[in-house]
Amino acid sequence: MAGIGPLGILRQRSRTRTVSFNSCREESAMAACKEDRGTQTEKDKVQGVLTEENNDADEDKPPRSLEECIAVINSEAGAKSLSNQEIVQMVEKKHLPSYKLESLLGNPLRAVGIRRTVVAPHTANQGSMDSLPYDHYDYTKVMGVCCENVIGYVPIPVGVAGPLLMNGKMYMVPMATTEGCLVASTNRGCRAMVNGVKSEVFRDGMTRAPSVRLPTAAQATEVYMWTRKKENFAVIKEGFDSTSRFARLQDLQVGIAGRLLFMRFVAQTGDAMGMNMVSKGTEAGLKALKKHFPELEVLSVSGNYCVDKKPSAINWIEGRGKSVVCESVVPGKVVTSILKTSVAAIVEASVTKNLVGSSLAGSIGGNNAHAANIIAAMFIACGQDPAQVVGSSNCMTLMEAWGEKGDDLHISVTMPSLEVGTVGGGTGLAPQSACLTMLGVKGAHKDNPGENACQLAKIVAATVLAGELSLMSALAAGHLVKSHLAHNRVKGGSSSLSSSTMPTTISSDTSGTSGITTTTPAPDGISSTKFCDVQPSGKASVGEVNSTNTCKPPAAVGDAKINAMQGDTVVSDKDSTSNIVLSPCQDPANISVPHSRDR
Ligand code: ADP
Repeated sequence: MAGIGPLGILRQRSRTRTVSFNSCREESAMAACKEDRGTQTEKDKVQGVLTEENNDADEDKPPRSLEECIAVINSEAGAKSLSNQEIVQMVEKKHLPSYKLESLLGNPLRAVGIRRTVVAPHTANQGSMDSLPYDHYDYTKVMGVCCENVIGYVPIPVGVAGPLLMNGKMYMVPMATTEGCLVASTNRGCRAMVNGVKSEVFRDGMTRAPSVRLPTAAQATEVYMWTRKKENFAVIKEGFDSTSRFARLQDLQVGIAGRLLFMRFVAQTGDAMGMNMVSKGTEAGLKALKKHFPELEVLSVSGNYCVDKKPSAINWIEGRGKSVVCESVVPGKVVTSILKTSVAAIVEASVTKNLVGSSLAGSIGGNNAHAANIIAAMFIACGQDPAQVVGSSNCMTLMEAWGEKGDDLHISVTMPSLEVGTVGGGTGLAPQSACLTMLGVKGAHKDNPGENACQLAKIVAATVLAGELSLMSALAAGHLVKSHLAHNRVKGGSSSLSSSTMPTTISSDTSGTSGITTTTPAPDGISSTKFCDVQPSGKASVGEVNSTNTCKPPAAVGDAKINAMQGDTVVSDKDSTSNIVLSPCQDPANISVPHSRDR
């Protein structure tokens, strides 16, 4: 059998000179012959892949004629017994569909390698494939789930923010991003939340809203009224719920537009984000409804009243996925020492920007500083659907002076439409799955379906809170642009990092407002922080959480030194906006606001 991987492709490509490819293709093939730098594969590993299944000798034979190859494809031996070069020819001549290579060859890696050879000559730059890695990747998890026509993968750096103390437990939060400052800033926010964060899901329902049509508006109204009755809802629910062990219809929100109805099915979906599940249930629900209204015509299973991956008021008001509220009290001392601002300044900045500015701009769901940044980075790391950054970033950030003297800061984020899941989609890919494992929420919850997905939603919201706190502080202190210029414009990346930009440890007593500073560990050498149970009165009951994630009896809140934590080694006291230098269309957080460069 033909060879694959850099070596196999290399042989195959070098022989394209002998076949009837045009010169452009030849050049491209030669360019692709160069060692695949992007993959950075170790040779022995590649050969390990090759020896098992491939007969490199096949690649040294001249390719057979088209007729001979067609005969082989139609024989028992099948397409997989052709050499790579022959398969490339067959795809070029449209005798084999490129998208079917994985199933025809029964070897996804080989299929990807061959597709790259086919595609390379048609790209703007023939050497482009050199830097797009494709080896050492488990494509079996991709096929039929995540991506088609695969030609490789794009590695994205994953940073970590934390420890984040949420609901009494510590989390190290993975963030996949190419935006400098984002992780450092979020990390600083985590560090400043010395009292921990309380995060709760207060509503849970994924939605799908088909559009249907009735012969008249009067009949549409009749259907609407019918669905309002409890016993009729039960009929639809029975059909809906029968489609899955996990999908449970909660509500049916119906909008009327003349003869049209938009029926928003709202359902719990266990640990799945739930789009497929709800769509399936919706079809069954409509079938049950049609039995009572045979003249009802289904126009589209999604009528944009859901609303999936588009900005909308309905998700903001009614919620979609998990609705989460999350809060923390930050002691005034910490606002000064870690965040380098004052309670009054940050509250004023928050009211002005998040409330007044957003309202003046006519924003819906955008009463926040940069929720989309954290959502995008966590979604990519954790295998969530990045397009759902649009609705998931709906967020209201509120800040107020807190405590008897108003010395402390109360901060909350309310996020009504976090669309997350821990099973299905990209969550099954090994790296994404590793990130979910880091958070202790991988896969289906053993005892209580839905608990892992809710927990992920709580962590995402808590991390957003950290991000909001840090960025708003930077804005209040006027550090924003300065820090971005420093962190996003390091020439040549790490290779030219000077000692002044290299991370060191954190100071609990930083005096400057720029640069990286150093810290002293906690006096007792034990990593510890404070967990604060926020009371409605504005007072707090405080308990300590140590590195083993267990709560100790209440103790007094100390100064910022006590917040030094194990592994908490990298925090810039600068803050972030890389959109100053990045093209907005390349920033995943800009999915929801394609032309905005602001936070
Ligand atoms: P989505 O609906 O989010 O698009 P899928 O279509 O992959 O995701 O559906 C999730 C799949 O995972 C379903 O087949 C479902 O039966 C299965 N599953 C297993 N355990 C769970 C769980 N705890 N919660 C939800 N789904 C689960």
